[in-house]
Formats: sequence, C-alpha cells, structure tokens
Amino acid sequence: MANLGGPSPAKRRLLMRTTEAIMLYGAEVWADSLRYHKYRARMEAVQRRGALRISSASRTVSGPASQVIAGTIPIYHQALERRRIKMRKAEAILPITIVKREEREETICRWQADLVCETRGRWTALIIDDLKAWLERKHGEVNYYLTQFLSGHGYFRSFLVQIGKATDPECRYCGIEEDDVCHTFFTCPQWVSMRRSAEEVIGTLRPQTIIHEMIRNKSSWDAMAVFVASVLKAKKLDGRWEEEGDE
Ligand SMILES: [Zn+2]
Repeated sequence: MANLGGPSPAKRRLLMRTTEAIMLYGAEVWADSLRYHKYRARMEAVQRRGALRISSASRTVSGPASQVIAGTIPIYHQALERRRIKMRKAEAILPITIVKREEREETICRWQADLVCETRGRWTALIIDDLKAWLERKHGEVNYYLTQFLSGHGYFRSFLVQIGKATDPECRYCGIEEDDVCHTFFTCPQWVSMRRSAEEVIGTLRPQTIIHEMIRNKSSWDAMAVFVASVLKAKKLDGRWEEEGDE
C-alpha cells in the first residue's frame, strides 16, 4: 500500500472537484441517463479512483466506502441535484442559496438511504452512521492510518484472509479473537496502554460513538488519530500480524 506522503487530502479533494465539474457538465439535461448502470459505472469508476487517492485507501476498499471516507458525493446524486436545482430555479420561489442548501440536504439524505441498502463497506457504514455530520465537520482530515481504521482494510489478519493472503484470521498478539479492525482498536489487550491514553481524552472507545466524539471535539479526533497511527505503526514494525503458521 503506497499512499503515504504526497499532496494533502484537501489538495486531492480540490483536484477531484475539478474532475467532477468536468464530468457534470450539462448534467441538468442528461442526469436521467445515469439511471442506466453502464453509464453510471463509467463515471463511478473515475470517481472511485479519486476517492481512493483522497483517503489514501487501499485499492481493495469498495466504491461506496471510499466515497464516504473521502466525502465525495456519488456523481449520480450530484447530477440529479443539479437538475432539481435547475427546475426550482425556473420556479423562482426561493432564493437560489436556500434552494441549493435544501437540495444538498436532500442529496445527503438520499445518499444515506443508499448506504442502508448497500452490502459493501459495512464497517464504514457502521461507524460513520451520520453522513451529514461527517461531511460538515469543521476539523479532521483522514490519512493513511485513519483510513485503515475507517475502512477495515489494512494491517489486520482478517483483511489478509479476505484478500486471499492468509488462511487464519486469529490475532497473533492475544490469540483470543480474530484480528480485525474492531478487535484491534476496541478490545485487543496488546494495545491497552495506547488505548488508555486515547480514552483519557475521549472517554471509553466504542465503535458506535467514536466518530461522533471525533467530530464533536478536535482533541478527540487528534487523540484517536495518534492512537490509530501508533497501533498500526507498531503492527507494521513487528510484522507479527502478517506471519503464517503456528508460533
Ligand atoms: Zn488481539
């Protein structure tokens, strides 16, 4: 997994917006054609590549999960939003700024509804369960390590099993549970002292509330970012999570 270093997520996001602006040219007219899978798939592939770069995600992360992590609204929804705005602009009932704000909220609701039915990226959907709050947060950038935490794709044996590079997902540190993202950051006794440092700032770490805490408080975001990076760097360094066979 390369993705360390290079332009910041904010710069990558800016590049993505430029690409999206080109893709969305005339969307008011052709938005409906994106109901056909073959047209939508082409644009989604471009957008997915951008989302993976913004979030420094592994190429194995699904389109829906990478878009949530990167905060890039699916092109299909952006196109429909443009068409709705154009129609309401013609009606001229409300000022355009209000129309745009309302339609963006509608878009996020529709996107959130899509994710409820989506089978890919379930871990991401579990922890980032409020898209509006996630997208409108005032602080906090994702990075190579946080993206592993948000996607579950990274230095975890269960992930190696998922991509066919290991057969046994058991945690090589405690031998108690499967080494997946949830176990690593929330329960594995190996990382208890690092976890305690984060909990002194955030309170008890729980998958259902951690993102809300991180969004609510910048110091919580920073403490979690340090905890996640420390654990993953330690795992990377000792390589025990990658080893096969009995020890
Ligand atoms: Zn463990």
